[in-house]
Amino acid sequence: MKKILLISSLWFFCNTAYCADSAKTNFSNKPKLVVGIVVDQMRADFIYKYRAKYGNGGFKRLMNEGFFFKNSHYNYVPTYTGPGHASIYSGATPALHGIIANNWFDKARNKKMYCSEDATVHALGGSEKAGQMSPKNMLTTTIGDQLKLSNNNQSKVIGIALKDRGAILPAGHLANAAYWFDSATGNWMSSSYYMAQLPAWVNDFNNKGLAKNYLNQEWQTLLPLADYSESLPDDNLFEGAFKGEAKPIFPHDLPKLAAHNDNFGLLRTTPFGNTLTREFAIQTIQAENLGKHAVTDMLAISFSATDYVGHQFAPQSIEVEDTYLRLDQDLAQLLKFLDSWLGKEQVLVFLTADHGAVESPSYLESVRIPAGNIKVSEMAGTIEKFLQEKYGENLLLDYSNQQVFLDHKKIANLKISVAEVTNTLTEFLLTINGVAQTVTKTALGNSSFNTGINHYIQLGYNAQRSGDVVVTYAPGWIDADKATGTTHGSSYSYDTHVPLLWYGWKIAQGQSFQTVEITDIATTLALLLDIQAPNGNYGHFLQPLISK
Ligand SMILES: [Zn+2]
Repeated sequence: MKKILLISSLWFFCNTAYCADSAKTNFSNKPKLVVGIVVDQMRADFIYKYRAKYGNGGFKRLMNEGFFFKNSHYNYVPTYTGPGHASIYSGATPALHGIIANNWFDKARNKKMYCSEDATVHALGGSEKAGQMSPKNMLTTTIGDQLKLSNNNQSKVIGIALKDRGAILPAGHLANAAYWFDSATGNWMSSSYYMAQLPAWVNDFNNKGLAKNYLNQEWQTLLPLADYSESLPDDNLFEGAFKGEAKPIFPHDLPKLAAHNDNFGLLRTTPFGNTLTREFAIQTIQAENLGKHAVTDMLAISFSATDYVGHQFAPQSIEVEDTYLRLDQDLAQLLKFLDSWLGKEQVLVFLTADHGAVESPSYLESVRIPAGNIKVSEMAGTIEKFLQEKYGENLLLDYSNQQVFLDHKKIANLKISVAEVTNTLTEFLLTINGVAQTVTKTALGNSSFNTGINHYIQLGYNAQRSGDVVVTYAPGWIDADKATGTTHGSSYSYDTHVPLLWYGWKIAQGQSFQTVEITDIATTLALLLDIQAPNGNYGHFLQPLISK
């Protein structure tokens, strides 16, 4: 009754040209705060697999009150963390944003490099090595950059993650700050790229010693062990144990294990790393007054612990399930905080992942599904030996991220072409167990692939930075030196299919089965915010998203 009265009185007072204009302006108001949430290594089916055990305030709240794209995919390889975060926020793929992996072989300097390394900047609040980081190796803008360009730098844009790359790449080149976790000190840190010194509130947060508190407790399961019926038994052959631990089973004695497992770094491989991230994110919103300015602010949060736990224990483990049940609680707390800070109608939230993961190949083999591990060093040795025997010289500079980097100078001295060597090599590579397909730099340069694996490769291939031959492993096969745990990086759906949920400001309630791509996120954000899309962006608007 009250609502009807309010609407009719509004109609009465607004029935003038002036009021119609202001009502229109109110309707087109932008969200006060955009919160991007990336869950590191979250496969789409984790939404359903653990659904019965999630509470109502986290993943389920996003699904029940927001919009769920059930068929959201990465559209390139390799599906790694650095490229994933860069692509979500730039709407570009590695072909343009240049983040072709987490680490890659730098042809110009003839050495390995890291995606967010920057020797010209210095650490703030943590160890120097962990702090020489910036977004300078990313070649395109992000949505946060465009937001700041749109209003002469008035918006505040901040990135947060345990991993530096999970904070730095999303926040972009113009960010006010990116903060990440230093395993040497247990502190949140940054670099001189962003500021001259850490804000006092960051030091105050660090001085609370929360990281140490979390490491002073055991990691027990949230529910009784018997309730984790979706996962394999706690003691199984496919999980990696922590160093200093006889078996990979609960409870994990964190106070005892820290000294053997990178001290504070151990926190990253527990669900408490995500909880610490949530606590720091809320502190950031409060301390920086995000969402309480005249223009839209943006916070990019990445929950990295899911990835560390996933790599070590693999998706079929109780450790992974427990980490997701606890992340669900952290999400609920974050959403509850946003309710009280700004209200749902003022905040635009999206949640996705930077890649999925395959079940541990050893586990797949144990249940008679074809799969396997390829040792990178052995693969490099095999290629090296073949080239040596064929051409009388070692022509291999590097094998990494399933790419072959050849020594072009040596090839020129032999008076043969790179294309000749790559064509010969691809024939040989196809004789190796676990290799499904190969494609050469020449083929990628001469053709435009619109479908299939080569399409994914082309979008992930940066002509300046990528290698001479790209190798594709068969489904279920990964680069791995050990039989436990798992990884990601392929163009198969277990790595490309990730959740995509939108919630809050103007977002309709619903779901869609249409295939959408990770590059659509930044395009959609740009259109919702009435700003230019990032400069390498080629996504599409996620049409069903908005209520009429
Ligand atoms: Zn990742």
